[in-house]
Amino acid sequence: MVRVAISGVMGRMGRTIAKLGYEDRDVEIVAGIESPDCAHSHDTVGELIGVKELKSPITSDISEVIDLLDVLIEFSNSPEAVLSHARLLAADKNKKGMVIGTTGLSDGDIKELEELSKDFPVVFAPNMSIGVNLLFKLVEEAAKALKDKGFDIEVVEMHHRFKKDAPSGTAVKIVDILKKATGIEKVVYGRQGDYPEGRPSDEIGVFALRGGDVVGDHTVIFAGLGERVELTHKAGSRDIFARGAIEAAKWVKDKPAGLYDMMDVLGLR
Ligand code: NAD
Repeated sequence: MVRVAISGVMGRMGRTIAKLGYEDRDVEIVAGIESPDCAHSHDTVGELIGVKELKSPITSDISEVIDLLDVLIEFSNSPEAVLSHARLLAADKNKKGMVIGTTGLSDGDIKELEELSKDFPVVFAPNMSIGVNLLFKLVEEAAKALKDKGFDIEVVEMHHRFKKDAPSGTAVKIVDILKKATGIEKVVYGRQGDYPEGRPSDEIGVFALRGGDVVGDHTVIFAGLGERVELTHKAGSRDIFARGAIEAAKWVKDKPAGLYDMMDVLGLR
């Protein structure tokens, strides 16, 4: 059993983690942390997610509940909150764990986190989906195995019509993995124009499709002459990030101090 507090509990991810955590018999939700502006609109996490018997308090001061928790799951949208919570946990003699899903941390924030994590165990991953992290690993393996064997690499992603950035952060990470594994540097986005010599082999193509309510699909195609390998991940809902965070919380409890990511949680190193 892991006793979990959720920071950013009133946010989209925080509520989802609270609901899924409550349904998980290996997880006890012991508290919610919120910004001082929001913390008092609900007294308990149960009230927030419509479960009367869940009486865990919501507070803006983590030190009030620090003794209750084994692991803090951090999904606030505030890098300052992430760092202030990490400083407190690093200084705590009981070596609680922390799972950080919050994005937008600066290089300086990450450096400080690396320093602090010498004193307590932290999982930090901007994409907590179990499947996406497995996809990263499979893409790396496939790219290494097929390197210099005549396979062209194309990355195709599709997201809903409201998405603000293209290509997705996950596609960008996939391209980074491919570049490292193959040594190919050139990346072509949305290919267009004349190719009298055909497709150059020393480039990676990236295509961002947008439409409807697609949560997030990513496919990496390795195309050779006469055969093709395709690796695909399809996200059906944001629950996958919450489930990944809960798995990470179970994993990080009682781990030695250090900075880990989802590859460690999934045993993919
Ligand atoms: P959201 O805006 O719905 O929720 C954020 C919550 O954090 C809000 O309730 C806000 O009041 C709260 N908050 C602000 N300051 C706080 C503080 N000082 N202490 C505690 N709580 C505070 O956002 P969201 O969609 O739930 O996403 C939250 C974060 O998680 C974002 O950074 C987002 O990019 C990231 N995210 C990561 C993953 C992943 O897999 N790692 C997946 C989805 C979202």
